Amino acid sequence: MSDLVLEARDVRRTFMVSAGFMRGKRPLHAVNGVDLAVGRGEVLALVGESGCGKTTLAKMLLGLLPPTSGTLEIDGNPIGSMDRLTVAKTVQPIFQDPYSSLNPRKSIGSIITLPLRVQGDPNPDTWRRRAEEMMELVGLPRRVFDNFPSQLSGGQRQRVAIARALINRPRMVICDEPTSALDVSVQSQILNLLQDLRAELGLTYLIISHNLAVVEHMATRVAVMYLGRIVEQGEARAVFTAPKHPYTEALLESVLTPDPHLGVPDTHLGAAYPNPLDMPSGCTFHPRCAKAMPQCSQVVPRPIASIGGHVECHLYDETEGQLAS
Ligand code: SF4
Repeated sequence: MSDLVLEARDVRRTFMVSAGFMRGKRPLHAVNGVDLAVGRGEVLALVGESGCGKTTLAKMLLGLLPPTSGTLEIDGNPIGSMDRLTVAKTVQPIFQDPYSSLNPRKSIGSIITLPLRVQGDPNPDTWRRRAEEMMELVGLPRRVFDNFPSQLSGGQRQRVAIARALINRPRMVICDEPTSALDVSVQSQILNLLQDLRAELGLTYLIISHNLAVVEHMATRVAVMYLGRIVEQGEARAVFTAPKHPYTEALLESVLTPDPHLGVPDTHLGAAYPNPLDMPSGCTFHPRCAKAMPQCSQVVPRPIASIGGHVECHLYDETEGQLAS
């Protein structure tokens, strides 16, 4: 992959948190050695359960949180060396809830042009025209320029949030559950809009989602995160059709419910998500893994290269991520 927009090398973020009454503070390794590389025009989906470190990683990519160690680069420039405004010009977020992410007291025009004002754009006489062009691009009628968020539907509000994120033409957009707060009827419209905008503006996306249907619809590559590490990464088609890591298999099984009346399918994840303050030894997934072997609780699996990515699991050996014999 030559034209990298984002590269993360051994990125870690540790928080010191209280371990309980009279027990002092202990390190919580929210992101624990992440390597990622996202090329121009790719859609990388980051999936995993709540608390796996996705949000912490996204905050670091947005320059809102410095890594404890490791390197994060956008366009070859370390994020740590960029000021907040430069990062904001390069990477923009789209949040899941357009109801709370838009200021209800500001007009739509004011919301969409906010990044231009914050960045001190030198051509204020062009702001309205640029906002209206962006509104047209995201499918918003120009007549709502002076309206307020409460006068719009949920889908329209998410289009406002997208227009605001794109008005400075960022290189990369981080979409955090971009449709989860929307009616099912408009979810696919917003996903299709994001796809169209990617093609038209040459955008690169990092999509954070629990919804594997969204991931399958959008992603070119998938990274599966568990307890602060990327345990499997690969081309989306390969991950969906032939998942390697038992955790990825369990995540995929969990959405393949043939009959909703049967309840939650058996994903072999009966054991609760581990306490990140008390990480399991060896492979951190071993207490929940249906395929665990004796060595799994003792030895940390190393990343094994697979087609278009890697997998961290003792089931695989160095031969292009083949099953170990
Ligand atoms: Fe399961 Fe062992 Fe692979 Fe971990 S290393 S995912 S416990 S088989």
